[in-house]
Amino acid sequence: MRKKIAAGNWKMNTNPEDGLKLASQVVQMAQDESISDTTIIMSVPYTHIERIKKIIPPTKNILIAAQNCHQEVSGAYTGEISAPMLQYLGVDCVILGHSERREYNKETYAELKTKTRIVLKHQMTPIFCCGEKLATREESAHFDLVKEQLSSSLFEFNAIEFAQLIIAYEPVWAIGTGVTASSEEVQEMHHFIRYTIAKKYGESVAKQIPILYGGSVKPENAQTLFSCPDVDGGLIGGASLDAKGFIDIAKSF
Ligand code: PEP
Repeated sequence: MRKKIAAGNWKMNTNPEDGLKLASQVVQMAQDESISDTTIIMSVPYTHIERIKKIIPPTKNILIAAQNCHQEVSGAYTGEISAPMLQYLGVDCVILGHSERREYNKETYAELKTKTRIVLKHQMTPIFCCGEKLATREESAHFDLVKEQLSSSLFEFNAIEFAQLIIAYEPVWAIGTGVTASSEEVQEMHHFIRYTIAKKYGESVAKQIPILYGGSVKPENAQTLFSCPDVDGGLIGGASLDAKGFIDIAKSF
């Protein structure tokens, strides 16, 4: 059985003190509600990692993630952060290829391949994002694009490496817009992603990869989205900044 995952992406929000409060509330509520079969991930700003890591209980179902890392392990890359630095802080997962980074930082398929390799090499789990812009969907090119995003950055990995990934399908037109993809649109794409993985790596790998949906997930729509057979949870932006709302989402399986 695949893991159920509620992954919050805080983006560039909260100061370290408010972030610690938010994380403490999430941890407390997860314990009060006895959430143990859902993995809760908090993807926090780099400045928050060390202090938040200290309050995460050793139960293994609450994890901490970074939102990016550089593709080199060290060197003259002013302002960047490396995989060994994140590993040293006890980071469990790293979001890679978020559409905001593809757009604003012009991340390429080749860079994302190297980043994925570096993250795996440092024993962290990549949460690899893919997804199309509205214009691409309107041209009915969304399946081809998502396939290209996966194959260009990930399909050189062997099955053992690939099986360690979490994939997040995030249609760009649904991120931060309040517009959620319909459960039919989400299931159709998740099924396609799993089928694409199965063709490359076989059924058993495809069956074990968690595929998350991201794009305006809220407590009100989480249950409908998470009930799709190929949806294993969500990557949640805005709604993860409210502990109760985020925990309500995590309870929606
Ligand atoms: C995201 O940034 O990954 C995201 C899905 O954001 P939101 O939930 O706010 O749409």
